[in-house]
Amino acid sequence: TPDFQTLPDLSAKQASQIPNKIALIYEDELYTYAQLEQNANRVAQGLLQLGLSPQTRVAILAKDSLASYEILFGCAKSKTVLVTINWRLVAQEVLFILNDSQTEVLFVGKEFLPLIEQIKPDLQNIKTIISIEQPDASMEYRDYTSWKNQHSNQSPALDYLPEDVTVQIYTSGTTGLPKGVQLAHYSFFRLMKGMQAQGDAWMNLNAQDTLLLSLPMFHIGGLWWTIQGMIVGGRGAVLNTFVPWRALELIEQYQITKVAMVPAMIQFCMAEPTFDTTNFSSVQGFLYGGSPIAPTLLRQAMDALQCGFFQIYGMTETGNMAVCLRPEDHDFSNETRLKAAGKPLPGVEVKITNSQGELLSAHQIGEIHLKSPSRMIGYWNRDEATKKTLVDGWISTGDVGYQDEEGYIFVCDRVKDMIIYAGENLFPVEIEAALSEHEGIEEVAVIGIPSEQWGEIPKAFIVQKPGYSLKKKVILSFAKERMADFKVPRSVEFVDKLPRNPSGKVLKRVLREPYWNTMGRQVN
Ligand code: ATP
Ligand code: MG
Repeated sequence: TPDFQTLPDLSAKQASQIPNKIALIYEDELYTYAQLEQNANRVAQGLLQLGLSPQTRVAILAKDSLASYEILFGCAKSKTVLVTINWRLVAQEVLFILNDSQTEVLFVGKEFLPLIEQIKPDLQNIKTIISIEQPDASMEYRDYTSWKNQHSNQSPALDYLPEDVTVQIYTSGTTGLPKGVQLAHYSFFRLMKGMQAQGDAWMNLNAQDTLLLSLPMFHIGGLWWTIQGMIVGGRGAVLNTFVPWRALELIEQYQITKVAMVPAMIQFCMAEPTFDTTNFSSVQGFLYGGSPIAPTLLRQAMDALQCGFFQIYGMTETGNMAVCLRPEDHDFSNETRLKAAGKPLPGVEVKITNSQGELLSAHQIGEIHLKSPSRMIGYWNRDEATKKTLVDGWISTGDVGYQDEEGYIFVCDRVKDMIIYAGENLFPVEIEAALSEHEGIEEVAVIGIPSEQWGEIPKAFIVQKPGYSLKKKVILSFAKERMADFKVPRSVEFVDKLPRNPSGKVLKRVLREPYWNTMGRQVN
């Protein structure tokens, strides 16, 4: 593969070398690298005509489609910064991101125009709003297609530097208000390039691959995955909302070779009636990560898919993956290894420290820090947070874990989710994994709730599988057989579903809210 430095470089080179190769598949439309380049150029020319200076924020609030990728590359080519907005957010949250980022131009899916109408009086910097699908005649928004087609398909050919910020992705907001992570072009290229230089084929991504694009572009995982597919000249099948049966259908229809999902997505797929009949024979590699995975779910998925499994651990701030558990470590007979998040990828460094910042040795639990060639430039407009998170190139992850003698990293939990029971640290992830072994438990989340006697005690929220009607007593005796007494949830509540953010992560702060007021431990 050619040596790509920036997003414009990637698009231009692929368009000249493999113009007629399919880059994207969307709703049965086959879209080539040449089409992507030309449309991205039109978007870039349009943005430049609006008089935007370099680094101006341009946002997108839409489900993924071909336009999303034209806009991604179009922004890069105009040297503006694309702010990707999670379309599952409510109006106030979208307003927060648009104002926080000081976005001037907004591309919006037609279905989100009513939401924009609602917050319009409070938008501080927006000058232009462009509707991706043709807006109703009564609305005064520009229509994306006609706007785009007014402009030349020639590249503006500006100076693009690998260190220029090109996207601003907001963290999932699992632990608090989302933060705008500024990523430069290099975040999409450097890590993999370094790995290749060391002869590491990793997932063996190649020009014959068809990737399932089921992770949204607004999330680093989705954006990064799409770009990796383009780097090797493969094709990507876009799934604009995660509908499990549709994902299974695409796998068969387009003979998908590489899949990336978050654990919740695998779980939803496996619960589909068509899962058993779906033919996975084309799938060679299955990438998962973004949140902890229950061991039972992982084993079921390995059993059902029979292909190379890759777990990745990383975060928006590290420019996606930093640590990986590879197929050879997905061994049914090695229980401990299966619980690891993996080893640092070539080029990535890891250190575990205590709260004083002192280095810990193997098996000692502390905060995980990562140093990656793909790391962020910094948070947008959050100097304090940047100073705290990014020190000498090291990113503090906010995750607790340890490393074994062989260098495998085990993620215990988030610092903020840890339960401190009578001075002892409990990790909800561990309790959840044990409980989810119960045949009647669909999913479970454990949080700490206040206790006068113990400080905090674990409480479990349980979603039952259809047809089950479990009693608290049953859960408790099941738990007692599998964990030390002090870890057994003192309180159990059965719920219909768990609050999750669109990345599929359980929002523990929402579960905690009723139990912790501002007087006690901080809820966020
Ligand atoms: P916020 O920072 O706003 O609270 P977030 O941390 O969920 O949101 P992301 O950057 O999308 O936002 O997610 C990174 C986090 O996801 C990691 O810090 C870690 O807690 C979790 N995570 C990612 N991969 C794994 C994995 N393989 N195993 C366990 N946890 C993981
Ligand atoms: Mg985070």
